[in-house]
Amino acid sequence: MVQGARTPVIAGNWKMHKTIEEAEEFINALIPAIAETLNHVYLAVPFTAIKSLADRLQQTHLVIGAQNLNDAAEGAFTGEISGRMLKDAGAKFVIIGHSERRQGFGESNTFINRKVIRALSEGLQPMLCIGETFEEREEGKTHSVLETQIIEGLKGIAAQQIEKMIIAYEPVWAIGKGHHAATPKEAQQEHRYCRGVIADHWGKEAANSLPILYGGSVNPENVRSFLDQPDVDGVLVGGASLCVDAFAQIVNYQTINV
Ligand code: PEP
Repeated sequence: MVQGARTPVIAGNWKMHKTIEEAEEFINALIPAIAETLNHVYLAVPFTAIKSLADRLQQTHLVIGAQNLNDAAEGAFTGEISGRMLKDAGAKFVIIGHSERRQGFGESNTFINRKVIRALSEGLQPMLCIGETFEEREEGKTHSVLETQIIEGLKGIAAQQIEKMIIAYEPVWAIGKGHHAATPKEAQQEHRYCRGVIADHWGKEAANSLPILYGGSVNPENVRSFLDQPDVDGVLVGGASLCVDAFAQIVNYQTINV
């Protein structure tokens, strides 16, 4: 399989699942199952599991990250976690702006922008999630929503910093159990659009370096159809990343026949 200029990124988001022991069991089974892959493999795990997994995975190509951070450096923010704490625990990246946080916790593009800036300043790679709701798509607003989320989410960030980030396009209507994935064609269209927005504002080099992942009901059967698209550089996987066999198959997508 010929890989494009951008090495595929396979990322899992465990959300609020797995104790430390369950996380360690998962990793012990995953490592041998994906030993041959050349893809970048990212796992966004619960805060409580970061340290033990990051320590265990130091010599591997598996990258451990978090699912959220606070925009402040430190302070009186009961229940919050800082970028510095995540870095200290061993996280290398952090998901920012997931639709579950935008919708369930009222996170605005401005707040998300402050978190992206904080993550970069703490040396964490931001994985910025963007995506339209079903209603926005029906009303023909997909592109304007994506453009706003990109421009406001990345406000004030230099092109050299953009190249260090990851964007995940996750149409809200495609996320989670009982929903169906976007078609590969739809994903390609929106990824191309997002890359164009990046190119217009931060230049072609940044746009071509930045991996754009697709997220929304990805599984071992459909992963390849997304990654065959020229502007889909990887996938962000929720539900299927909780099952070691399914996630290993997704990571090894180049070698499975479906
Ligand atoms: C997600 O929540 O980021 C996600 C892509 O979930 P799922 O794969 O379960 O649709």
